[in-house]
Amino acid sequence: MKIAGHLFKNFNHQPSDPIFELMKRFQADSRSNKVNLGIGMYCNAAGELPVLRSVWLAKEFLKERNQPSRYLPMAGYSDYCCAARALVFGDDADTECIATIQTLGGTGALRIGAEVLKRHFPEAEVWVSDTGWDNHLTIFSNAGFSVRRYPYLDKGSYTVDFEAMYSCLERLPRGSIVLLHACCHNPTGADLSKAQWLHLAELVRDRGLLPFFDFAYQGFAAGIDEDAYAIRLMERQNMAFVVASSFSKNFALYGERCGALFFCCQNESQAGLVQGQMEYAVRGSYSNPPLHGADIISYILHETGLCDIWRTEVTEMRERISGMRQCLLDALSRNSARLDYYRLSGPRGMFLDSVLSPTEVDQLRSQLGIYLAPSGRLCLAGLNQANVEMVAEAILDIVDKRSI
Ligand code: PMP
Repeated sequence: MKIAGHLFKNFNHQPSDPIFELMKRFQADSRSNKVNLGIGMYCNAAGELPVLRSVWLAKEFLKERNQPSRYLPMAGYSDYCCAARALVFGDDADTECIATIQTLGGTGALRIGAEVLKRHFPEAEVWVSDTGWDNHLTIFSNAGFSVRRYPYLDKGSYTVDFEAMYSCLERLPRGSIVLLHACCHNPTGADLSKAQWLHLAELVRDRGLLPFFDFAYQGFAAGIDEDAYAIRLMERQNMAFVVASSFSKNFALYGERCGALFFCCQNESQAGLVQGQMEYAVRGSYSNPPLHGADIISYILHETGLCDIWRTEVTEMRERISGMRQCLLDALSRNSARLDYYRLSGPRGMFLDSVLSPTEVDQLRSQLGIYLAPSGRLCLAGLNQANVEMVAEAILDIVDKRSI
């Protein structure tokens, strides 16, 4: 027996994360016709996780350059930070007022942002959408916040129930932190309209709320610049808010962990103070971020030719996903008059709510090797011409059995 081996014996069992657990099960599944529609990763028309051409070209250049692997500063690679900031806020943003760091993906940005906020607003509550991305609950409660939910979706029309959302937010105490999905709301795909964002910006300003944007899908709703509408709107109005950005999806660089955290401040001196706090949080967490992914992205964004290639590739990914959404909806509604829900084509982005129950999701997986998130969320980016009809038939089959 190990000395002091008893020290860990009282650790509670931590249930595994449902999405990563699913990915493990998918990898262990030996069926050749299995379909992964669980985790949010983009696959191309051939069903493969792509290496974008822009990324491949940048990697070739970097390989040739063969630089040693130095430590980055706590804030990360400064060329990357500038390029990321321009991508999110546009070229005419007031950059001096935006404190910026490179982060470990969008999740890392959320986590460091939460830590900085908790230190300065210990009493604030964090409000997230109902439904939303479950990891927001984990991230903000791990940072010590109490997390509450504001109403978001009108299930009848499958659009944002803006009235309900607004009337909840307008009653929050000043200084409450409101988590907003800038585009491609995960999991519903239902986003605010431009008019609604304008209203929300007014509300946030009048009520003294602190918006925290999660921007994980830039380019996957309408376009790189279009998707930044709400963020740029608030920045141009000189409002104070936070943005956690992810480049996992739009560069297909899931494993490189590239993201950025921005605090939009009212002036340069505030931004300097916030920058120090962000860097302090990084130093006590992982010290400084890794270089390779940031080097790739920075090189692409600074080279006009490569950047054009990348923008085209983002358009292709977006169009392929929305084409697959249409194909699936067509197949579903063609074959069932009862499924009104599946006629809705308003939602955008990678996901579709299959409206299947957890038991039905389980049946799809065990009987046919079709993997959806346990919540019923289906990743459209895993569909292609070879599997979409089969998936539609499987869903219809399950739904048909319901009414017997
Ligand atoms: N926010 C949302 C809403 C997401 O869906 C994701 C990725 N699934 C993230 C943040 C985090 O992205 P990353 O992989 O870059 O940490």
